[in-house]
Amino acid sequence: MKFYSTNKMSPEVSLAEALLRGQAPDKGLYMPVRVPQLSSELLQNARKMSYPSLAATVISMYGDTFSAEELLEICTDAYDFDVPVEKVTGRRHILRLDRGPSASFKDFAARFMGRAIGRLVSRQNRELLILTATSGDTGSAVAHAFLGVAGIRVLVLFPKDEVSERQRKQMTTLGNNVSMISVDGKFDDCQALVKRAFADSDLASLNLSSANSINIGRLLPQSVYYIYAASRIADIANGEKVIVCVPSGNFGNLMGAVLAYKGGLPVEKFVVATNANDEVPLFVESGMYQKIEPSRVCISNAMNVGHPSNLARLVDLYGGHIDEVGNLTQKPDMAALRRDFYAVSISDDETRATIKLAYKKYGTLLEPHGAVGWTGLEKYMDATPAHQDMAAVCLETAHPAKFPDEVRSITGIDPPLPDCLVGLESKPEAFDKMNVDYDEFKSYLTGKYQ
Ligand SMILES: *Cc1c(COP(=O)(O)O)cnc(C)c1O
Repeated sequence: MKFYSTNKMSPEVSLAEALLRGQAPDKGLYMPVRVPQLSSELLQNARKMSYPSLAATVISMYGDTFSAEELLEICTDAYDFDVPVEKVTGRRHILRLDRGPSASFKDFAARFMGRAIGRLVSRQNRELLILTATSGDTGSAVAHAFLGVAGIRVLVLFPKDEVSERQRKQMTTLGNNVSMISVDGKFDDCQALVKRAFADSDLASLNLSSANSINIGRLLPQSVYYIYAASRIADIANGEKVIVCVPSGNFGNLMGAVLAYKGGLPVEKFVVATNANDEVPLFVESGMYQKIEPSRVCISNAMNVGHPSNLARLVDLYGGHIDEVGNLTQKPDMAALRRDFYAVSISDDETRATIKLAYKKYGTLLEPHGAVGWTGLEKYMDATPAHQDMAAVCLETAHPAKFPDEVRSITGIDPPLPDCLVGLESKPEAFDKMNVDYDEFKSYLTGKYQ
């Protein structure tokens, strides 16, 4: 299987190369030349398969960079935690993706990539510097996933005022081969610094790679849990369709879902829920794209994204082209997009009201990201009475205990701490500080890593 760049100006590469590079040289994002199709046998068997074996099977469809045995080893090691599909009411479910070591869904991709890239680096005797911008959760998932992996160093940039204290401590207390910079700016500033470093030929000798949602290695593992959840709530082997709701920021999670769908997972509709950063819902509605600068600050902080990188992939899959700065040079098939997606923006007030109501009415504890999703799903169901009784799943992307103040003030209860967060408060932190200044960033990189 080969992977092409959405900007179509650089050569196709293997999965190994796409994993190691992250972004394509022409600043486009890698996509598989064709989306591999889920066999009817797989759709039949999915509901009986364990998470690791389903993951290994799905990812193996993208090429032979890793043998089937290697993939099973990687996935068994990476997915050693629960993936609960929890019924909320009727046929509506949430999929809790918060049981990994950083308590967010980012663990699914990061833990796969850490192990996959670790193997490639040792095969090729290379050294790599993983450079990542985070809006809250990617950083700690990536840092945990690559912690102690030989041949790899990790540097994470996070926006100083936009990550919660717990999110920050999950990254800054690790040490070893992982380092952090607190940037006096927004997530988009962090992402812009990182992207510029990737494109800077002066830094080629650092062997930079990304573990952001721009890396194709993020998307493949993120298509697995859609198949897993759908197989457990609907008769997908016989084509029964599900409604899938994805709270979205940079749209990497949604792209995983779309890959599963294009591979034959029966999906009726994707409910795409954003916070007040509504550039994508407006785009789906109007066909016009306008990034939001600066991005709006919301309580679902990991989704404060004003110009999602993965939009390039989505537009590409629907036959259009948008470049890395947000110029829509060719419109995608808007009718097909609107058929597949119900995109909706949810305010902080609505998010809080949903956290309160879900707890009161169903005893279901949500945190802000999952609550954005759940609000979107309810809006879709209200607008589409004919689909009321269809099987539906909404992703809960983080653990409520990562947002204790918000959850406590709304529901009056203290979310129980998962093991991975116990004792975090008292651990010593280490990180550097920086302004949004590329020259400063560049000399930091060469000074520290060259
Ligand atoms: C990253 C993140 C999101 C958004 O996911 P995207 O792939 O960027 O759309 C949602 N919720 C949480 C908790 C996250 O960490």
